[in-house]
Amino acid sequence: MILAEKLQKLRVGVVSPMEPLKDHCSWKIGGPADALVQPRTEEEILRLLEFVRGENVPFLVLGKGTNLLFPDGGIRGVVMKLGRLFSEFSISGTEVRARGGIWVPKLVKNLADAGLSGFEHAAGIPGSLGGLVTMNGGSLRHSAGENIRSVDAVSLAGERRTFVNEECGFSYRRSLFQDPPDVPEKRWIVLGAVLDFRRSEPGAVRREQIRVLGERRGKFPLDLPNCGSVFTNDPAVFELAGPPGKIIEDTGLKGETVGGARVSSLHANFIVNLGGASSRDVLGLIGLVRRRVHDRIGVWLDCEVRYADETGKLVPASEACP
Ligand SMILES: Cc1cc2nc3c(=O)[nH]c(=O)nc-3n(C[C@H](O)[C@H](O)[C@H](O)COP(=O)(O)OP(=O)(O)OC[C@H]3O[C@@H](n4cnc5c(N)ncnc54)[C@H](O)[C@@H]3O)c2cc1C
Repeated sequence: MILAEKLQKLRVGVVSPMEPLKDHCSWKIGGPADALVQPRTEEEILRLLEFVRGENVPFLVLGKGTNLLFPDGGIRGVVMKLGRLFSEFSISGTEVRARGGIWVPKLVKNLADAGLSGFEHAAGIPGSLGGLVTMNGGSLRHSAGENIRSVDAVSLAGERRTFVNEECGFSYRRSLFQDPPDVPEKRWIVLGAVLDFRRSEPGAVRREQIRVLGERRGKFPLDLPNCGSVFTNDPAVFELAGPPGKIIEDTGLKGETVGGARVSSLHANFIVNLGGASSRDVLGLIGLVRRRVHDRIGVWLDCEVRYADETGKLVPASEACP
């Protein structure tokens, strides 16, 4: 029996066989996953994890796919998507409890309505809360970790655990929920988080969010499929040569194209899909940028964007490019 048929017989959520991953990532790139599963409850997640362990199938967790590059051949295993079906939240005073699948722009809007300040920098980040926590995402020199009190997670081995902030390993765009090791006991899936904010006035929070959104609209190429900033803004490299967008622009690669992928002419740290770009095109372009930057300033830029191989193994895309 094929994988998706087996899963459809278990109660693990909505199972989609041979689901095109390009429909689940903001770059619109990637072949099919043998099975995409969207659980609705924790029980369904635990049942799915038991199946994955028992059958020893490749497994990957997906949020909104706004920081992921999928392989052209797709993934020969299970991709679990925490999204719309797993997105409740509640507000009590300055404390917010939210599940991992909630869409960050929705959370941000509700924070403004409730007059809670602290996440204005996250306005316009298009991922899920699980992805934001995992990537410790943010902008304007802020990161989500600053407002996280604790994270609820489950390991691939099925253990439930609450991590307090200090245990989450937050640093610049990093957390312990990334780079899952091969040991199932240490691969953690973010189920939700408790966040803490400052009390403010709804109008003031909304105005600041609108300001941040306006700034992003002017700076970022939002009209073509992309994955946000491709390269990390390493503080040591910044000190030496400035932000990655400027470093790439200085190499003259703004507008450079490989197949259907192009270094954005608006912001050189973005790679846009002109239509029909393959994962191979994007990796080729990342490789070209890295070599050119290295030739010029002697530094290898690392990627914030993560590449999944056909077994679902995730690495920064800079480790997968030619
Ligand atoms: C236009 C645009 C602008 C962007 N701007 C910013 C920005 O300003 N700042 C910024 O930090 N990022 C930015 N990003 C990148 C991206 O939106 C963030 O990294 C976001 O937090 C990723 O969330 P996601 O749900 O899409 O994660 P995905 O891309 O689905 O996954 C990213 C990683 O997190 C893992 N993951 C996802 N959910 C879970 C979970 N529940 N448990 C465990 N692991 C999980 C995945 O396995 C993968 O390793 C931008 C992207 C785009 C397209």
